[in-house]
Amino acid sequence: MKRIISFLGLPGSGKGTQAALVTKKLGIPSYSIGQVLRDVDDPVVKKYIEAGLIVPDNVVNKVVEDLMKSLDNACLLDGYPRSMSQAKFLHDAPNIDVLPIYFKLDEEELLDRISSRIQCSECDSIYNDDILDEGDFSCQNCGAKEYYRRKDDNKEILAVRIEQFKTNTVPVLDFYESKNLLHTLDAKLSIGALKKDIVQIIEEFIP
Ligand SMILES: [Zn+2]
Repeated sequence: MKRIISFLGLPGSGKGTQAALVTKKLGIPSYSIGQVLRDVDDPVVKKYIEAGLIVPDNVVNKVVEDLMKSLDNACLLDGYPRSMSQAKFLHDAPNIDVLPIYFKLDEEELLDRISSRIQCSECDSIYNDDILDEGDFSCQNCGAKEYYRRKDDNKEILAVRIEQFKTNTVPVLDFYESKNLLHTLDAKLSIGALKKDIVQIIEEFIP
């Protein structure tokens, strides 16, 4: 039996940060599906990525299937399944147990978070742009003093992502909820508090 921990939620809800923490703490490999698709050596996938198009579900499912074949027992998927057809594919796959964890965050909170997010130019550490008001702020991780805003951090793109999430992914949440599988987290909690909850949920899932 292979065990898949699935992180679901909008960009900016903290999934990527927590995935890295889980890998460090529990040694479970984690994969961001967006990154896997960008890295995969497949001409069909490349065609979509290079054209800036959404990769169709059947193609994504095939990539995930190949990924799972290469794994031993457990892994964490950040951003999959993102639609009902992906969720059904995963649900019907033989010998796979899924633990879906939803990072719940209000739209307003998210817009606030994303539009005020800046990153260190040297090490990509994430800060709120409040720090710029303090004047001479050095990155707590590396000491650099230059920051940038990610291009996709603008509100219009986020609004599109929110709509896509409502249309495609909310039915996935309902599906898992109806099967009593869904764990919903309050993504407003601190990074440390979220990590503690997530580790506990995963440790119950993986004996
Ligand atoms: Zn830095």
